[in-house]
Amino acid sequence: MRCQAQSKRSGEQCRKAAMRGKTVCRTHGGALTGPKTAEGRERCAEARTVHGGETRAIRSKRTKKLKELKELEGVMLKLGMIHS
Ligand SMILES: [Zn+2]
Repeated sequence: MRCQAQSKRSGEQCRKAAMRGKTVCRTHGGALTGPKTAEGRERCAEARTVHGGETRAIRSKRTKKLKELKELEGVMLKLGMIHS
């Protein structure tokens, strides 16, 4: 399998061997993986950022709630409402 890329200047086809499973050689993009368009890259980055932010927010909220619960438990114990 030869690289299918063609030179813009000479119009000749690249004569290098194509990457395994690809139609172009390494220098013509055969080594690239993942999102290839600018839009795709942007969407990918956005998805990751949003996800990370959400996870952080949820985690801190949960920690706060747990702290409140612990405090409430302490008050209830003091008041004799519950027994440990
Ligand atoms: Zn090539």
